[in-house]
Order: sequence, then structure tokens, then C-alpha cells
Amino acid sequence: MHPDLPLLLELQSLDVEIARLNGEIASLPKHIAEIETRLKFHVEQLDSDRKTLAAHYKERKDCEKEIVVIREKISKYRDQMTAVKTNEQYRAFQQEIEFAEGHIRQFEDKILEKMVLDEGLESAVKKAEAALNAEKAEVEKEKKVVSERTRQDETELAAKKKHREELVSKISERSYCEYTRLSRKPPAIAEIRNGTCQGCRVKLRPQVVNEVRSNSTIRYCESCHRMWFYVAPEVAPASITIHHS
Ligand SMILES: [Zn+2]
Repeated sequence: MHPDLPLLLELQSLDVEIARLNGEIASLPKHIAEIETRLKFHVEQLDSDRKTLAAHYKERKDCEKEIVVIREKISKYRDQMTAVKTNEQYRAFQQEIEFAEGHIRQFEDKILEKMVLDEGLESAVKKAEAALNAEKAEVEKEKKVVSERTRQDETELAAKKKHREELVSKISERSYCEYTRLSRKPPAIAEIRNGTCQGCRVKLRPQVVNEVRSNSTIRYCESCHRMWFYVAPEVAPASITIHHS
């Protein structure tokens, strides 16, 4: 067998691992950003509901104040009514009182309307607060997991890169150059299994298969230009005979 071939095969699987680790390291911060964005959205939503509630409470309080003022006015009218001389004056006060009472009912209706709305909002806020606490804890936990995972990946990646350097130093410069060039469209090395190039699925002539069987030279596929590595067919389990001594 050509001495570079097993090394190149090892390099190829190492490069797959390195690419996987690099991809994972790059994707982890994105994952965190996603869950943090979701959390921020929920925080803002809760904040907006709280603000709406606070505005409603203020409106309700203002209405109550208005009612107090009107009630005072009515009670003043009633005091004045005791001193009136004519029926006309009496009716005028009565009308004023009725008008003021109508106002009170309007403010009371407004208070009631807001109370009904606020009941729903209050329960939504309570639920959101509980859910948000759980979500915050979950995000913190996830961040810890991700930072630990990143640390592990980086350690593993450093070890693999070191191993790669050692491996590359053992491979001839020419083979490594070819491998690097072909790696732009991975895999650089295609196995030949069952007389077929696994890189492009082209069926090889039996004579060619015979020539590459020993893997003693580095050959390239004519159709996909990948390096070839011949893999002997596996022995089917049914054909194994166990000899008992
Ligand atoms: Zn091919």
C-alpha cells in the first residue's frame, strides 16, 4: 500500500471531526442569542402589560376622585335645598342633583369596565411573571451548558489540530497538496466499493478495479477526480464456517 494513503484517510476523517467541532462552536452563541431574544420579548411583553395595568389603576383612581367631588357638590345642593323659598328653585336643585348623579354613574361604569379588563390583565401578568422566572432560570442553565460545551469543544479541537499537524508532517508534500486541493469539494478521497467509485457512483471496469486493488499507487477518478482508496468486499457472515476441534 502507498504509505500516504492510510495517513490521508485518517486526515480526512480528522478533518470531518474538525469541521463538525468548528460548526458546533460557531452555532452555540447563535443558540444563546436566540433564547435571549425570546426572553427579552417576554420581558417586554410583561412590562407593557404592567404599564397598561398601572395606567388603568390611575384612571380608576381619577374616576373615584371625580365621584368624591361630585358627591360633595350634591351634598352642598341638598344643604342649599333646605333653604329654598320657591318650588322653582327646588326643582332647579333637583335637576342639578340628577345631572350630577348621571355623571357619577358614567364614572362608575368606566371604573367597572376597567376592572373587568384588569382582571384578565392581572391574571396574565401573574402567569407571565411565573413563566418568566422559569424561563430566566432555564436560560441561565442553558448558558452554563453551552459555555461548558464550548470549553470541551475547544479543548477537543486543539487536540485534533495538534494531531493533524503530526499527521501532515508524515504525509508527502505532493500528496498533501493534492488532498488540500481536492478537499475544496469533500471528500477528497473516495472509496472504491463493489467496483464503484463512492465519490461519483461511476462503475469501474474490472481491469481498473484489479489495478487499484493493492492501493499501491495513488490513483484519481477520471470522472470526479477524487483520490481512490480500494476497500475489499466484506465477507458475508453466512459464508463463515466455524470449525470445531
Ligand atoms: Zn469518482
